Amino acid sequence: MREAHATANAAQPRSPRLPRGIALAWGRLRSLWQRWFLWLLLAVLVLVLLSTVVWLAGRHEVEQVQAALDRDTADAVVDLRASLQRNVQSLRATQPGTVDSPQWISAADALLREHREWLRIEWRDEALRPIAAVDTPYRPRLLPEQSRGAGQSDVATACAAARELGGPAYSSSHYLPAVEAGGMEVMELCVPVEGGYLVASHSLRDVLLELVGPTLKRRQEVAFTEIDGTRLVAVGTSRRTGTRIFTSQQQVDLPGNPLMLRVDGWRAAPDLFPNVLTALVTAVSIALISVLVLLALDTRRRLRVERDLADSLAFRKAMEDSVVTGLRARDLQGRLTYVNPAFCDMVGFTADELMAVGDSRGSDARGDASGESGAPYWPTELAHEYQRRQTLRLAGGVPPREGFESVFMRKDGTRFPVLIFEAPLINAQRVQTGWMSAFIDISEQRRIEELSRATQERLQASARLATVGEMASHLSHELTQPLAAIASYASGSLNLLEQAGGAGADRDVAMAVRRIAEQAERAGHVIRSVHDFVRRRDRTREPVAPQALIDAVLPLVQLQARKLGVRIELALEEQLPAVMCDRTLVEQVLLNLARNAMQAMDAPGTRERVLRLRVARVVRVGGAESATIDEAGDVRRWLEFAVADIGIGVSDDVASQLFTPFFTTRADGMGLGLSLCRTVVEQHGGALVFEANRPRGTVFRFTLPVA
Ligand code: ADP
Repeated sequence: MREAHATANAAQPRSPRLPRGIALAWGRLRSLWQRWFLWLLLAVLVLVLLSTVVWLAGRHEVEQVQAALDRDTADAVVDLRASLQRNVQSLRATQPGTVDSPQWISAADALLREHREWLRIEWRDEALRPIAAVDTPYRPRLLPEQSRGAGQSDVATACAAARELGGPAYSSSHYLPAVEAGGMEVMELCVPVEGGYLVASHSLRDVLLELVGPTLKRRQEVAFTEIDGTRLVAVGTSRRTGTRIFTSQQQVDLPGNPLMLRVDGWRAAPDLFPNVLTALVTAVSIALISVLVLLALDTRRRLRVERDLADSLAFRKAMEDSVVTGLRARDLQGRLTYVNPAFCDMVGFTADELMAVGDSRGSDARGDASGESGAPYWPTELAHEYQRRQTLRLAGGVPPREGFESVFMRKDGTRFPVLIFEAPLINAQRVQTGWMSAFIDISEQRRIEELSRATQERLQASARLATVGEMASHLSHELTQPLAAIASYASGSLNLLEQAGGAGADRDVAMAVRRIAEQAERAGHVIRSVHDFVRRRDRTREPVAPQALIDAVLPLVQLQARKLGVRIELALEEQLPAVMCDRTLVEQVLLNLARNAMQAMDAPGTRERVLRLRVARVVRVGGAESATIDEAGDVRRWLEFAVADIGIGVSDDVASQLFTPFFTTRADGMGLGLSLCRTVVEQHGGALVFEANRPRGTVFRFTLPVA
């Protein structure tokens, strides 16, 4: 049926000019025709066969009737000949020539009483002149005496023939008109005897009545005809209407007269069921046709079921192909019997490759349960362990696994974690035929889990940092007072020393105390900037001099710079305008960039460590012109801040992810610094970019609008 569909579909493009509706109808007609053609052929053949059989049966019957009639006719002819033969003998027994005339007459008379078919017996001499004659007692005299002369032609021909044959001979029949009885056909018999002839005149009608069997006459019409078919006399039943005629003819072949016996039989027109044979054949035919019809119905039902089955199979296939879960079925020997496309995609092998290995392994497994190689998606280092587990499971000792984690290997050798759900495969007879497993590739899940774990750790780290910040704020607050006390005590001591006058030793002490005051001042300055950095919460934009921004972060930068041995170089253009910014955020940007730069130079072999901070009117950076037109139509000018180092530089790999949150190459890094910096700069309308420094290192530049 599917073939028929396919042909129907294929036929469509061949008649592109036909309207779609007609093409569809044509295709349907074709498929219908192809589907029913064989059935039609079969039905026609059966019909032809049956009608042939019925026709043959009818014909057989007709032939049988005809044969029976022929048989009857032949029997009648034989009987007739024998009777006529006997008659000749009886005639001879009258012994003409040896008896006198009256004696012969009485013998002949006796004979005529016995034989009704005879009209008259004559005894004639050699020259055919009548010697004596006797007429039948059953009829009035028909043959006039004067017509029975020696020259009578019928008798003459019969006797001439008899003489010639040397035995009895018959004349051809002739019609004898009679006044009362309406005339009759008469045939002469001439028998040569001692010194003359005996002539017997036969009434042909009586010959039929007397000598041809009475049974024959009752059912048929019996007639004598001439050789050309001319009917002479006939007796028996005449034809009934609605009947069919059967005819049989046979030559009686009397010496001198080629007489024919014709028998016409009638039978009713053949019935629909003329006999048992035909009835039987018809019954069988009806049975055959019924079986044919039942068969056709059955085929139709089967076709429908087949179509439904194909539909549901296609649906199942589509389902299996579209699920993202890998599916695998194995038989009880552990041989792979089915894998879905998702499984193949997961492990990178084609279904054929997996099956091929499964087959060869299955045959191994029968011989040796610990057959080594294992499935192609088993990691080589774990194959042994997996094999052991599988053998155990196939032995039936282990319950089905649910949500079991394992590691598989792709065709390219990479490993990946999978989650396995396994269940016994039960067939329609409720017998376990194998195992069905579903696989979920959990590598992505693992990656996300890993990422969230790292994020979690960094969050904890930043929480710790916040605490440190908090503590630093307290610390700075606590330290301000002792530092202020130290400073005032120092200046008090200085005043006292100055009042006491300037001796050499005192000058030295004054010098030392001045230094103490200076250092206390400086420590207070550092502490204040830490406090400011941690505490300041205002988010307002204000005009800030670039120098002020640098000065605010410099103490903190110097803290780290001193530790790492980094020299700081400042380069600020003369008379720079103030920038419009949120100073806390911009300070943090500067601090981050400076810290990153110093960390980049913290590699062991780096001898020269210089951090350059530059502020200049911008020429062109990151596509931003030195002057742009803002929304209000005013010309905006920009300042560019650059932080340059001569550290390890940024590789291409790192460069592509530099601004991605949480991307870091440092063990203790958060990976948030640069992404925050960019956000801050962009919030101010500027741009943050980086490029390689010459001869090495990196330069980060960002722009801020002039106030
Ligand atoms: P963190 O400093 O916490 O790692 P950042 O976002 O500030 O996070 O930096 C991300 C990464 O960018 C750093 O781990 C480092 O690899 C790289 N990077 C930043 N600045 C520089 C620089 N000046 N030179 C070389 N690499 C740098």
